[in-house]
Amino acid sequence: MKNLTKNIFWTVITLILVTVFFSYFFSASSETENLSLNELAQRIQEGEVASIVINGNDLEIELAGGEGAVAKKEFEAGLSETLKNYGVSAEQLSSVDISVEEQSGARFFAGILIPTLLPLIILILFFWLIFRNAKGGANQVMNFGKSSIRMAGNSKDKRTTFEDVAGLIEEKQELLEIVDFLKEPAKFIKMGAKIPRGVLLMGAPGSGKTLLARAVAGESGVPFFHVSASEFVEMFVGVGASRIRDAFTTAKRSAPAILFIDEIDAVGRQRGAGMGGGHDEREQTLNQILVEMDGFDRESKVIVLAATNRPDILDQALLRPGRFDRRVFIDLPDVKEREAILKLHAKNKPMEEGVDFRRISARTPGFSGADLENLLNEAAIFATRHGKTTVSQQDIFDSVEKVMLGPEKKGRIITDKEKEITAFHEAGHALVATSLKDADPVHKVSIVSRGRAGGYTLNLPSEENRLRSKSQFKAMLAVMMGGYVAEELTFNDITTGASNDLEKATELSRKIVTKFGMSKLGPISLGENSESIFLGRDMASGRDHSEKVAGEVDSEVSSFLKEAYKLAKNIITKRKKALEAIAEILMEKEVLEQEDFDAVMKSFRYKPLPVG
Ligand code: ADP
Ligand code: MG
Ligand code: ZN
Repeated sequence: MKNLTKNIFWTVITLILVTVFFSYFFSASSETENLSLNELAQRIQEGEVASIVINGNDLEIELAGGEGAVAKKEFEAGLSETLKNYGVSAEQLSSVDISVEEQSGARFFAGILIPTLLPLIILILFFWLIFRNAKGGANQVMNFGKSSIRMAGNSKDKRTTFEDVAGLIEEKQELLEIVDFLKEPAKFIKMGAKIPRGVLLMGAPGSGKTLLARAVAGESGVPFFHVSASEFVEMFVGVGASRIRDAFTTAKRSAPAILFIDEIDAVGRQRGAGMGGGHDEREQTLNQILVEMDGFDRESKVIVLAATNRPDILDQALLRPGRFDRRVFIDLPDVKEREAILKLHAKNKPMEEGVDFRRISARTPGFSGADLENLLNEAAIFATRHGKTTVSQQDIFDSVEKVMLGPEKKGRIITDKEKEITAFHEAGHALVATSLKDADPVHKVSIVSRGRAGGYTLNLPSEENRLRSKSQFKAMLAVMMGGYVAEELTFNDITTGASNDLEKATELSRKIVTKFGMSKLGPISLGENSESIFLGRDMASGRDHSEKVAGEVDSEVSSFLKEAYKLAKNIITKRKKALEAIAEILMEKEVLEQEDFDAVMKSFRYKPLPVG
């Protein structure tokens, strides 16, 4: 559609230009003097005419003075004859240089053909352009069955290697085997070893699956074909399957090679699942993948890499040996890996001296590799916009919050009362967090509003611990209650600012009861299956337990919440002085970094308390 408007635009412009050109051309010629025949005869008699060019019935006259003029002669009659009739003598005529020009010259075109043909030509051109567009569409339809398979550039300078992947040591080790095979396939085949046909990379979005696949290709130096499974999902049944066939054929032709199918869950979902009946297209596409992978013979040197962030919904048939029999789990990076990733991506940015990547990585639990890359990018943008030439630690810290919570809303007008409430609320969270032995330490307290949050307290685990204990959960719940309790104790009132805390606390305590088996109900995992339809599993839905158990769950959830509330209230009542001190400084400074906060708390010499 955009092309069409563009074409019409150009057609109109051309038309206007042609019109302007010709009107200029014709008006230029009409400026010369137009003589009648007897005027011409008279001029000749007076010896004022130097030459005449006859072109059909048109006469182009050059006067003695050098100016030009035009005239028309009688139809079908000779010029000399005519002039004689007007009384020009043979002598006078002989002093004029008369020549005859073929009428088929440029003038003929300009005079007759162009005015008649031009509109026609423009019209034809116009339709041709439209049809060309339409044909483009038709060609696309013809290409439907072809996969848009891309071959990654294997140019030496730009290729991705394992060096570009920070951390992920074990994962790289696993993939090295494949690289070795692709480098020397004969060695393995001679030993009768079966080489994995497929390797499935599984992990959270942004954890580096695509990157790792590219690195495998770069290391092995074989052609790397890259398709995204979502490209196989089309409106028309059979198209996806045909594209798969095409992709595999292309890869086999240049074996040894790697065929990388990204986001394979788009087609690899469990068959026969989901709502609304048959997903014929997807199933056919999946079947085709299975067929192609089975079709590889022992000698075939094509390895299929696939990536997904939803291994749980993949069809079992994809996972059985002989297909994607190797699986590589890629976890979100831990504190050391995050540091390595940060250092890697900081290489091409001018960093200020002494940026402590360890501290940044400690502040970014749960960030994926892609998040960390984005974080540094944000920091670089921030530094540039503030006219700096290097990126500082503080720039990165500020960006962490921006990435997690959204941009600062410094402009938002809040009343003094609101500011006071927010300060006490956040001081409540922070106070409970530092007071409890099992709570994560406070890294920052702020009452500058960001995104949806009015203020926030950043308390993060000091070391990466994958396991959490019941007392840690209890401490977390109490910290979440801290804001609510502080408002209640200080103002004798509660605002809506605590609603998000309550939501999170309720969610957490429900998990404690139903998933972690930490309640009176004992060791049991209870589920709500409402999600499973969308996972592509069965239609089964609803609770998997009785009304009675559901009631017990609810009462356990609320008892955890009440306990946390009591704990928070206890701490804040006893340590009211500290609460006031923190809130006071917050209202003044708006942001408290870890050191400032610790300095305030130190003066009170409180001892850490247990949760129970
Ligand atoms: P996905 O797992 O979703 O396919 P990608 O592989 O596309 O994620 O990763 C996105 C980006 O994140 C990469 O281009 C890379 O810059 C960065 N990244 C992720 N993990 C790492 C890592 N371990 N080392 C270095 N960069 C990483
Ligand atoms: Mg990816
Ligand atoms: Zn809060």
